[in-house]
Amino acid sequence: MPGRALRIASAVCLLLLGAAIAARRSAPVFDPAAGPLAGVVAAIDPGHGGSDRGACHLPSGLIEKEINMDMAFRLKRGLEEAGAAVILTRRDDTFVPLDERAQIANRLGADVFLSLHVNRFPIPECFGAQTFHLPSSEAGRRLAMLIQEELLTVYPPNYRQALPGNYRVLRGTKMPAALIEIGFVTSPRDRQLMQTTEYRDRVAAAIVRGVERFFAGEAPGGSPDEPADEDDA
Ligand SMILES: [Zn+2]
Repeated sequence: MPGRALRIASAVCLLLLGAAIAARRSAPVFDPAAGPLAGVVAAIDPGHGGSDRGACHLPSGLIEKEINMDMAFRLKRGLEEAGAAVILTRRDDTFVPLDERAQIANRLGADVFLSLHVNRFPIPECFGAQTFHLPSSEAGRRLAMLIQEELLTVYPPNYRQALPGNYRVLRGTKMPAALIEIGFVTSPRDRQLMQTTEYRDRVAAAIVRGVERFFAGEAPGGSPDEPADEDDA
């Protein structure tokens, strides 16, 4: 009987709808349709890879390409929990040319590009996470400043500010882009921090907060253009 089948189908649809609404209410954090970054496509670029190890401190087992990959997955998780769709420019220990990394993000229509790195400097006293942006990009500057503000809350002794940096991997991107150095491998205190999963998780969460504030239209300096709506979380 078509009429009866239709009624049963309608009832099933209503049940499924109810279940979907209930699931949405009980687990809002993992609902990609509801997070503050819903609709945002984020490209994460784990720096280096393959034969290019990046900055290393071998006695403590810190190898930049590995830290960047690990951080990329932590950041990916955080951004996805906030509702973003995430692209990685590399998913394993292979080297992807710098221009190709930007092109991947352009081709897939990313709204934001986040390149992850570890810093080094001959003076071991130099420490602290730091964010860079293209000198010519006003949006990139706002993004980098917001991320940097959040990074300073992770480790308050860090006094570094966001800076312009004419990095090749950023130059080819068509979207707001930032390059984040999560610490100095040449600094004993940063090495200690980077060896803990707590620091890595807190850095990833700080970057997510910076990206959320960027897409909420906030200005750096703690003066939001649009107050955050806690109901959105
Ligand atoms: Zn690097």
